[in-house]
Order: sequence, then C-alpha cells, then structure tokens
Amino acid sequence: MKEHPNLTSPREVVALFEKYGLQPNKRLGQNFLIDGNTARNIISALELSPGDAVIEVGPGAGALTILVARQEVDAIALEIDRGLAGMLKSILEPWPNVKVINRDTLDVNWADLIGEYFGSGRSIKLISNLPYVISGPFMYSLFEARFPFNSAVLMFQKEVARRLVALPGDSNYGALSVLCHYYTYGKILFNVPQTVFWPRPTIDSAVLRLTPRPGVLSAGEEKLMWKIVQGVFQQRRKTIHNNLSRVFSDYPGLSSALLETACIEPGKRPEDLTAGQFAKLAALAYNYINKPS
Ligand code: SAM
Repeated sequence: MKEHPNLTSPREVVALFEKYGLQPNKRLGQNFLIDGNTARNIISALELSPGDAVIEVGPGAGALTILVARQEVDAIALEIDRGLAGMLKSILEPWPNVKVINRDTLDVNWADLIGEYFGSGRSIKLISNLPYVISGPFMYSLFEARFPFNSAVLMFQKEVARRLVALPGDSNYGALSVLCHYYTYGKILFNVPQTVFWPRPTIDSAVLRLTPRPGVLSAGEEKLMWKIVQGVFQQRRKTIHNNLSRVFSDYPGLSSALLETACIEPGKRPEDLTAGQFAKLAALAYNYINKPS
C-alpha cells in the first residue's frame, strides 16, 4: 500500500499550507476536516465497490479524497481554489485514478461531466463536505440534472441537512425539501461537531445520504412542478389556493380545479403538502395547459 501524508493531522495540513504558500479562504467556506474518524465514517457511508466512479466536490486539502484514492475506483475532484487544486494534484500524483480539476461546481453540467470522465453505465457516487455558502444552488443543480448518482454522501451545515429531509408541517420544510423528497430518499446519518475542522467554524454539521428515487413525471411535468414549488413557497403563510392562483394567474379558475381534482383543501398552506401532492398538481396542471383546445 502506498504511503501518503496524513491529511487529517492539523500539524501536517498547516505545514502543507505553509509549503505551498496558502491560507484558508473564508469566502470559499474553507474549513478543513482534521479528524480521521469522521473522514473514515463519511467514506464508509458511501459504500464504495470496485469499479465505482466517484465525484468529489470541494476536496480542499484532501482529507476525503485521499481515502477515495486508495480504493479501486476512478474519481474526479472539483476544486474552485486554484492554489488548493495545485497542492492536491501534487499530493495525489501517486494515485492516477484520481483527477483533480480546478473548476467551479456551480458551472458544471452534470450529464456532460459524467459523460466526459466516466462514459455511460457506471455507478456514480457523489461525495462532498460542502461549502455552506453554495449548498442551496448546489443542491438545486443536482435536482435539475435529475440526480444522476447512485448515491451521495454530503456534509452540510446542520440546518441545511434538516431542511433537505424536513417533512410537511416542519418549520424547515420548503421548496428544497419538496425537490429533495421528489428526487431522492434522504437520511441524516450523523452529526459532526465544529471541533473537527480547521479553522473551526461557528456552526455544527451533519452528514446526509441521498439515494435516487424513481421519477413519476415527464420532463414537461417536472418543469411545471419546479414552477409550482418555487412559486408557492415565496409566500408560505398564504393558502395553497392563493399561491396557486398567483402562479397560474394566466389561467383563471385553474387553482380551484386543480385542488379539487387532487383532493387538497384550498385552505392548506404550501408547507402542508407532500412532494407526491405537488407532483400530482403538476401532472394535472400540465394536462390542462397542454390539452388540445
Ligand atoms: N472536503 C474538504 C474537507 O473535508 O476538508 C474541504 C471542505 S471545505 C468546507 C469546502 C471546499 O470547497 C473548499 O476547499 C473550497 O475551496 C471548495 N469550494 C468552495 N466553493 C466551491 C465551488 N463553487 N466549486 C468547487 N469547490 C468549491
């Protein structure tokens, strides 16, 4: 087995940063994992098998990347910070199965990226200790791509993790939760304290596993579901009827008809509806809007 630096040792990580003339960048959410047990627990939650293809987002100093590198998998790691990407490329030179790519994950087209590096038919696993500042747009990008992964193990700020898996009626429940339930099965696996990061953040984190849920809507219906979900949660204290009337202001009477057909009480709030009910509303609305006149 190849030797490698201990990338969860605070002393070794600080020494590497000095060697490469780098400093943690707060704006990029750089808090690096410096606890071997947590890193190993995250990797084992990914349940890697030989031949898997792994995508890591924001590898940073490589605490997780190096554990992936040692498995019989092909991996790419997308790091926005050019200095860090350069450092990690040098560290990972002995592991040609991992490619470090200096790239902003928010510019990625997931289908193109997967096709370019892994072709088709591979089991793709996603891993990330996510920069908190981009967790919302990042998750929307995965759902927009219809979650093209066999599984994802992601670390978030605890509140973001809770929001993603929140159920109807929970104060955290919102558009992101609905989309997360529509596209995936989600489970919070464990919490991670501030103390295992350098520099230490002011928030606690949680690790979440997501696996894909088979879609029930056509592409056109899904697009409409996004419009409904993102529209109705803009005014979450208003009734679903008022919200839907605003979303479908071009179709007078449609809101009442949809709610009646879907057996949803018009006085309910958006936060009371399940992802399944939103999917049903989208399918009905799509049929109505696209029916031949
Ligand atoms: N995975 C490492 C770990 O666990 O120690 C680093 C985690 S740190 C919280 C987040 C990392 O994501 C940083 O290395 C940061 O530079 C990188 N990052 C931030 N925004 C990014 C983006 N838009 N695309 C790719 N990487 C990004």
